[in-house]
Amino acid sequence: MSSEPQLEHGRRVGFEPIPIFDHHVHSDGRNADDYEWMALGGTTTVMVPCTSGEPHPSRRAFRARCRRLLHDEVHRAAVYGIDAYVALSVHPGDLADEPVDLDGLLDELAVQLNHDRARALGEISLRSGSSLEREVFVRQLVLAKELDLPVLVETSPDPKCYSEALPTYLELIKKSGVNPELISFMDMDADKWRPLATLGFGPAGVAVSPASDPLFGVRRKLTDTEVVRMLDEFSIEHFMLNTGFHFGSADPMGLVRVAHRLQVRHGMSVDEVHRLVDETARCTFLTDERNS
Ligand SMILES: [Zn+2]
Repeated sequence: MSSEPQLEHGRRVGFEPIPIFDHHVHSDGRNADDYEWMALGGTTTVMVPCTSGEPHPSRRAFRARCRRLLHDEVHRAAVYGIDAYVALSVHPGDLADEPVDLDGLLDELAVQLNHDRARALGEISLRSGSSLEREVFVRQLVLAKELDLPVLVETSPDPKCYSEALPTYLELIKKSGVNPELISFMDMDADKWRPLATLGFGPAGVAVSPASDPLFGVRRKLTDTEVVRMLDEFSIEHFMLNTGFHFGSADPMGLVRVAHRLQVRHGMSVDEVHRLVDETARCTFLTDERNS
């Protein structure tokens, strides 16, 4: 008789630690020691995207920001044994008013994206939807097409705002001529993914964490049970899980805790969980590993 405990439905109980590539962490806005918890949970690799927050950047200020991520943040992660990559962008929401040196900013972006640690363009999204925002959104998609780089598109946590903005996103993506496979929408859930599921987009980022009662929650994250429900409806290759780590309340162990629950509570195989927390992101963003 097997000494292994069994779940009610005969699935094997057990947890196998899995290496994690957390592809959506705004760790530059957090305490460095969060990296220690992430490393203890199995995170070997992260990607740190640009976000909005520095309105009207000059080319010089933007260059300094890119360098902070490419050098300082990569170094900070390396101290904890984590291999960090970055995504760079001029966030359209930062360009609320003209005049802005858009040509200079996009030239600088193209230069900085050549860095070995820059593996995606992002995040980008629309805030007001002004013509300037739309222009800088499309021009960055065109740049991503030229550089053959994946793009992170940030989406609103509010379902109504998301539904209202989606047609504009689809129109601008089409206008840019970029291959939809290069686009990864972030902060997805089943409802948000449904209208995109058959349009040929790249794998979507899904922020996850066990349920909590945060005092400063900025974005809701999916629990393990919600991930399983989503996978009942859509195929596993559509998704990659992340902590969606940012300046709001967030558990640095959120992703590994969900990976643990997917195995021990839902009986998902190690291969399936590994695909969700590491492999798909690695194939999407670290193309030299994919091609080697
Ligand atoms: Zn983000």
